[in-house]
Amino acid sequence: TEVSVAGTEYYVYDMSLAQEGWDDLWLRGTVSKDQGRSQISYIARLSFALAPAVIILAAVGGYLLAGRFLRPIKKITQTAHDIRTSRDLARRISIGKGSDELHALADEFDMMFDRLQEDFEAERQLTSDISHELRTPLSVIHAQCELSLETEQSKEEYEDAIQTIYRQSKRMSNIVNDMLSATRLERNLSQTQMTELNMSELTQSLCRDLAALKQNGIEMQYHIQPGIQVQGNAELLSRLMSNLIMNAYKYGRQNGHIQVQLISEGNTAELSVSDDGVGISSDDMDKIWRRFYRADKSRTTESTGLGLFIVKKIAEVHRGTLEVRSQPGQGSTFIFKIPK
Ligand code: ADP
Repeated sequence: TEVSVAGTEYYVYDMSLAQEGWDDLWLRGTVSKDQGRSQISYIARLSFALAPAVIILAAVGGYLLAGRFLRPIKKITQTAHDIRTSRDLARRISIGKGSDELHALADEFDMMFDRLQEDFEAERQLTSDISHELRTPLSVIHAQCELSLETEQSKEEYEDAIQTIYRQSKRMSNIVNDMLSATRLERNLSQTQMTELNMSELTQSLCRDLAALKQNGIEMQYHIQPGIQVQGNAELLSRLMSNLIMNAYKYGRQNGHIQVQLISEGNTAELSVSDDGVGISSDDMDKIWRRFYRADKSRTTESTGLGLFIVKKIAEVHRGTLEVRSQPGQGSTFIFKIPK
């Protein structure tokens, strides 16, 4: 209420304290109208004075916040631009740690660049490997032809030259064939048809055929636990096993032995192929899986260095593992483990 006392007007406010437990008690607030007005105008003035500061603060805050959000986008754009103009796939956005969507986007882009760089690098390496591999036989053929054409030679010498050319051209065709089949295999690995198959039967029939070879007088024995079932592709698994067994023949000792074993170990099927041949030095142990890698470069015609590379790819697609144990001069054992 408003009351007027001796020409001065007051605002009066009464409040009962019954709710607080003081039944008969009241609280009265009184303020003169002038005083009230001056307080309100003080608040209004203060608001006016503070308004620009508040606006500036909001603008600066907004700008900083927007900058924080825009910075990753700018970096993404800049990196994409840099990669396009410099063709340097090694560049990355790298905006550091963060858990928001923009960080996730930048990380995803970086991972995509990693993948692209790997694929391009593999492609470049493949071209360089193939030309390197073909260069040697090609230059031998070239030199033999030049020599035979330039100077008169005896019949034996011509025959010799033609033999060399034949051997080297065969080697080139081996390389090209193996390379084609390795590339085809790599390309189709992702859509490989997997079925439930009896690995024991597959190994048994392959061993029966390959034991008959008796290459270099080598005796092949096999022990196969029956009834081992795996998820896999029969054609690829046969290829893996025959590559390992053919290597055991190739790097085996004259009149030596090959042992093939397939057993079930817990949740895995374990295939091992052992020979008592040349063995592998510890230096070569990690390298033999590489494309075109040959430990003994003197065995030129037959080997292309692609057999184990293919074995590794097939093992990967079956989520299997490979292991090799070897003593130079004593022999080697290759072990392939595949989930049952
Ligand atoms: P390739 O046999 O055509 O050379 P691989 O990829 O099958 O190619 O093998 C790569 C290299 O690994 C071979 O050149 C050889 O030096 C070595 N290697 C493979 N298997 C054996 C083995 N059973 N014993 C000794 N060395 C082996």
